[in-house]
Amino acid sequence: MEANKIQYFEKADVPRHREFIISQNNCVLCGTVLELKHTTDKSVDEVKEEAFCPHCDVKTRSRNHVLN
Ligand SMILES: [Zn+2]
Repeated sequence: MEANKIQYFEKADVPRHREFIISQNNCVLCGTVLELKHTTDKSVDEVKEEAFCPHCDVKTRSRNHVLN
């Protein structure tokens, strides 16, 4: 189980994948490159992705939001 988790994160962290994500995350309001936050919730095996514009001070996207 642990080995599988490590493989998963290595795949998600390859540079090509990272560039693809960033290219889709410029702020539509000001054009600033959004800061991405990836929070891993081990209890539910989910990775939460948030895009945040430091200029507009607003979150523009949130994925895999699995909280009760
Ligand atoms: Zn902005």
